[in-house]
Amino acid sequence: MSHFLPIGSTIGIIGGGQLGRMLSVAASRLGFRSHIFEPGAEPPAGQVAHKVTTAAYDDDDALRAFGASVDIITYEFENIPTAALDLLQDLAPIHPGREALRVSQDRLTEKTFLQELGLKTAPFADVPDAASLEAALAQIGTPAILKTRRFGYDGKGQARIMSPEHAAQALADMKGAPAILEGFVDFSHEVSVIAARSLDGAVSAFDPGENVHSDGILRSTTVPARLTQGQRTDAVLLAAKIANALNYVGVMGVELFVTSDGLVVNEIAPRVHNSGHWTQNGCTVDQFEQHIRAITGWPLGDGQRHADVVMENLIGDDMDRVADLAGTPDCALHLYGKAETKPGRKMGHVNHIKRA
Ligand code: AMP
Repeated sequence: MSHFLPIGSTIGIIGGGQLGRMLSVAASRLGFRSHIFEPGAEPPAGQVAHKVTTAAYDDDDALRAFGASVDIITYEFENIPTAALDLLQDLAPIHPGREALRVSQDRLTEKTFLQELGLKTAPFADVPDAASLEAALAQIGTPAILKTRRFGYDGKGQARIMSPEHAAQALADMKGAPAILEGFVDFSHEVSVIAARSLDGAVSAFDPGENVHSDGILRSTTVPARLTQGQRTDAVLLAAKIANALNYVGVMGVELFVTSDGLVVNEIAPRVHNSGHWTQNGCTVDQFEQHIRAITGWPLGDGQRHADVVMENLIGDDMDRVADLAGTPDCALHLYGKAETKPGRKMGHVNHIKRA
């Protein structure tokens, strides 16, 4: 094996939300320590990590101290400011690497990269300014979706253009940010693949899950997904192709549209992914441990699915159901320790297990 980070080493995690929290738990189960860097007060990951730095991403002194105190660095979200990464990369290895971040931070770069790999995406056109929207609409047609190139998540920074008269409002919704126009993909359902690539280049993928979104937020993931055996193989192979092309190390999520014309890639997330939470109760080694194994130079673990699972996000007032869920058989609760319940806020999730 190329490089095996000694047990007891410290993993720096940028971002202190629920993904950072579950990564910390997985790290400590393997005997590692974790150190969270997060600007917000009292992050969910801080409750379970060994150390927390509360500082802004432009606080160079705090970044330097963090970088010097950890053995490797990973992250729970892709929109980390470039200047922070430039500083940190001289202090400790960052996994997944800069190329994965560069590609996934910008929808235009991402779609171009995917097409160059020979993968299908929605048709798209660059909309750098207001003047270019008309030409983009002439090329793509309607219905279409205008999306900011950067900083979009959970459906934010997106506006649908059902017919050309919606264009002005959609453009206003972008608030002047560079955007891309995407043609509407006529999909039957959405699936995602969670794949891992180790330091020495081994790739392993979890069984694809079927995702249901509403208001741009993931509501549930069901495994097995409705896919033919051929589609299942395609999904895994295309995720491996992406991971290899990026020389990727760690876990990534690849979101796909299922169409009559095959699988269309929507986006890639260079991190553990909400649609992979089912693995916590459906596999021997879940996506969080798989990520920690990959970045620390361990061999990838056994990610075979041993049960059917429906993962349901607990969003906002869904927390009122926790007592009921706690008494429901074959139901595993994962709560994030967030102080305040707010509409649209992911508070936890539940894995409903159906034994195979
Ligand atoms: P995104 O933030 O790009 O993942 O988009 C959020 C959700 O919007 C997706 O999960 C889809 O349900 C829908 N969506 C995004 N892009 C498209 C597209 N080009 N065609 C149809 N639906 C889309």
